[in-house]
Amino acid sequence: MAYDSENIFAKILRGEIPCDKVFEDDHALAFRDINPQTPTHILVIPKGAYVSSDDFTANASEAELAGFLRAVGHVAREAGLAAPGYRMLANHGADAHQEVPHFHVHIFGGQNLGRMIKPVDK
Ligand code: AMP
Repeated sequence: MAYDSENIFAKILRGEIPCDKVFEDDHALAFRDINPQTPTHILVIPKGAYVSSDDFTANASEAELAGFLRAVGHVAREAGLAAPGYRMLANHGADAHQEVPHFHVHIFGGQNLGRMIKPVDK
């Protein structure tokens, strides 16, 4: 899947639409989800143009991979989630219902999150 430079997170990265920013460095931007699912719900995105976790893990440089993962940990720590705990989640593709085609990691926290995911009825 080709990268769509008009996706909403690309526009946020270019400063064309606002976001509730919590962190930014050379590799990553983190901002609060517009429709939070938990008391703390932050999205961390790489600065590079990657469609999803599949694209990012296949094609990003070592520096981008390391910088991004460091940023995720930093953001969670700064949000006060290291001690109580949090969940990281990245949706890739249709089965995971990925909505925005720019790789992002969700950080969920601020409440007991339950175990893993809710099983789907078969
Ligand atoms: P996903 O299903 O993993 O692609 O999740 C996309 C997430 O992006 C959802 O949780 C949306 O609420 C969130 N989102 C969409 N547009 C914005 C925006 N402009 N600012 C912040 N979060 C957004």
